[in-house]
Amino acid sequence: MSDQNDDPIVPVTPRRMPKAPIEKIGGRKLKPSTLMMGHGYDPVLSEGSLKPPIFLTSTFAFEDSAAGKRHFEGITGKRPGGADGLVYSRFNGPNQEILEDRLSIWDEAEDALVFSSGMSAIATVLLANVNQGDVVVHSGPLYAATETLINKILGRFGVTFIDFPAGATPDEVSALLEKAKTQAADNGGKVAVIYLESPANPTNALVDIEGVAEARNQVFKDEASPPIAIDNTFLGPLWQQPLKHGADIVIYSLTKYVGGHSDLVAGGVLGSKAHMDPIRAIRNTIGTICDPNTAWMLMRSLETLELRMTRAGENAEKVCAFLRDHPKVEGLGYLGFISDASQQDIYDRHCSGAGSTFSVFIKGGEAEAFAFLDALKIAKLAVSLGGTETLASLPAAMTHLSVPDDRRAALGITDNLVRISIGVEDPDDLIADFEQALETV
Ligand SMILES: *Cc1c(COP(=O)(O)O)cnc(C)c1O
Repeated sequence: MSDQNDDPIVPVTPRRMPKAPIEKIGGRKLKPSTLMMGHGYDPVLSEGSLKPPIFLTSTFAFEDSAAGKRHFEGITGKRPGGADGLVYSRFNGPNQEILEDRLSIWDEAEDALVFSSGMSAIATVLLANVNQGDVVVHSGPLYAATETLINKILGRFGVTFIDFPAGATPDEVSALLEKAKTQAADNGGKVAVIYLESPANPTNALVDIEGVAEARNQVFKDEASPPIAIDNTFLGPLWQQPLKHGADIVIYSLTKYVGGHSDLVAGGVLGSKAHMDPIRAIRNTIGTICDPNTAWMLMRSLETLELRMTRAGENAEKVCAFLRDHPKVEGLGYLGFISDASQQDIYDRHCSGAGSTFSVFIKGGEAEAFAFLDALKIAKLAVSLGGTETLASLPAAMTHLSVPDDRRAALGITDNLVRISIGVEDPDDLIADFEQALETV
């Protein structure tokens, strides 16, 4: 037997080259809901498959050794511009790259990164930005695990924090940033990052992103200024786009509205390439990227993002109009019915919709709230939000049980505060469910 391969090499000529992405027709810039069906992927790349296949591979073959070297020069930063192609699945893969291209469209971000969870996204952003002695300034309250990460875990590495209430004025934020600067200088560090979450959970208090950016620019006039990062999970990407209001880094738990079907866990980070590069380097090192299957599911979810969020927002408005006037309801924490003038001002400048996650205060205490929750027939009793189905929970007894009593009281997390995330069901069915559940209270 000959050890020579006599088979002729048959060159495979693609029928055509992949098309350049279409983002405009004539002078018309295409809307995100249109681009979600095809942006960043051409079927010619994958045997004509209309949908991108799921690329289950841990590594990618180089065309030759020189290409392999070039890739690694890019990955390690020896050559600017990053990776030249795909190398290894801890760094990136085709599904994640297409997803990142599509995700960045909604916020008009230059660059995006996807992660295995919202928390791994947040942890990677913080690891990329903090050093020993640094101070993190953050709005409060934050998602409980984020608060643990900043206040307890980073504390073990000599990082301190200062927080301000979500509704703080720009002057109050300025004063706090001055204080943080002094604290950082005393610790031999810098103010590393200003970390926001708006609206805050479960109070729905809004942060004045523009006000925080003004305060930051005023306090750090001629010095290197800390980036403003914001967790935009509750209103983004449809109803609030913080990059347009002065934020530098936008973070998502894609588990919520973007995933939208309560069937996956993932995270996303968006912003300028300059802000994303150091975060990407940490993600490459520690492997907090999301897997190809999850990325594929998120692309499917993005196709209906606008439909789902719009319907959920309309449903929430109808349900809240019903709840507002109900004799067994003490009050509502819903962005569609804000009573505070300065909060309304922030809403008008920053938000294009009130979302579908809100709080309802049942008259009474825990017993009455439990009676209401246990009587629900359509709404499911579960934490999380942003899915197609309506969920309800009691933060004081569940997500915020570990928060000390005095801090819980200060945040307004009372025993009768029921948290509701409205889905895409028929709104009148939902109202019928809430009506019968309130009757049992
Ligand atoms: C759920 C959530 C997170 C954490 O996201 P995971 O995907 O669960 O890791 C962070 N911030 C907010 C506001 C959230 O709702």
